Amino acid sequence: MARIGVFIDEKGGEIRKTTLGALSAARRHAANEVYALLFGGHPEGCREVLQRYGADKIVAIRTPGPDLASFPEARAEALGLAMDAFGLDALIGVSSPSGKDLLARVASLKGAPLVLDCLQMDLSSGIVKKSHFSGKTTATLRLNGRPWILGVRPNVFPEIVDPREAEILAFEAPIQAAKRLVIREIKQSGVGGADISEADIIITGGRPLGSAENFKILEDCAALLSAAVGASRAAVDAGFAPHAMQVGQTGKTVSPRLYIACGISGSVQHFAGMKTSGIIVAVNNDADAPIFGKCDYGLLGDLFEVVPALTRALGVPGTRSDPIGLPEHVPDASLFDSGKE
Ligand SMILES: Cc1cc2nc3c(=O)[nH]c(=O)nc-3n(C[C@H](O)[C@H](O)[C@H](O)COP(=O)(O)OP(=O)(O)OC[C@H]3O[C@@H](n4cnc5c(N)ncnc54)[C@H](O)[C@@H]3O)c2cc1C
Repeated sequence: MARIGVFIDEKGGEIRKTTLGALSAARRHAANEVYALLFGGHPEGCREVLQRYGADKIVAIRTPGPDLASFPEARAEALGLAMDAFGLDALIGVSSPSGKDLLARVASLKGAPLVLDCLQMDLSSGIVKKSHFSGKTTATLRLNGRPWILGVRPNVFPEIVDPREAEILAFEAPIQAAKRLVIREIKQSGVGGADISEADIIITGGRPLGSAENFKILEDCAALLSAAVGASRAAVDAGFAPHAMQVGQTGKTVSPRLYIACGISGSVQHFAGMKTSGIIVAVNNDADAPIFGKCDYGLLGDLFEVVPALTRALGVPGTRSDPIGLPEHVPDASLFDSGKE
């Protein structure tokens, strides 16, 4: 039996959905003992959800210093101490931007092997798969030494209900916030929409959107699909969308059930960030666009006609519950199955 720790990304008692996928990945081997590690004062509030997804123990890490959310160095130290205290063989987290930062620090402190962006994991043999070279290859790696530090790609591991009776344990980590880092001010990015890393459906816009205002076309459609809105780097660099919305090699890695790419050429760098999506739909007015070789369904047409038509159709009662079944009356758009690479 191995003891597997899972870092729970929680705020005010609200647990991120992708974290539950990481918990289920740890739970996969019934013999493992799964420790949900969380900072902050809401272990009781999180108990019901965490035990439903397979946590045997909930470890509430407390520190004498201030809230450590902005001090990844101190958080990593506290996590490392908790791993020692409970004899954990592995720590799993989500490969989100903050998760990558935190897990790498824990691995460095412990001199432990680290694999981020895992697509598959076998926790009994220590063999994991992750994408390499912007998604062009998938590497199979065997971890040597213990403990293992693993970051899972958001949304790749589904959350699976596997109820347990979880015990809450308190752990006092004797650490202080790092003195090398002083937080003067925290400014919100102003991104009010849903987080693309967590979303089940994403609709993304590229360079041809042409302005920040035009992203409203995508936002209207997203509202009806309960989707998040993403952007290509070209759109972000042009100032049409904030970096938090960028999908790709230098943006976020996403794995929604449905990814709708509008006016996106399909560069390798963009594809690296969304190739593990369930169904990929591309809207593009160039039949030779590379994205058509990488999608499940392609819509050849002008996004400024196709997307509003889709929004109108989704607004019709009865069509919204089946967002993947595109309506027949989309104008000037020929639907063809192009086959993903
Ligand atoms: C190191 C590095 C890292 C990078 N990281 C990223 C990254 O993280 N994410 C990312 O996205 N890119 C990244 N890039 C940039 C990447 O190479 C591409 O330049 C970028 O993805 C192109 O964005 P785009 O598809 O929006 O624009 P374009 O390449 O300009 O493509 C626009 C597409 O829209 C189509 N189109 C035009 N008008 C319409 C219309 N009215 N209706 C429908 N379709 C239309 C065109 O036919 C075209 O296919 C990176 C590049 C480098 C070198």
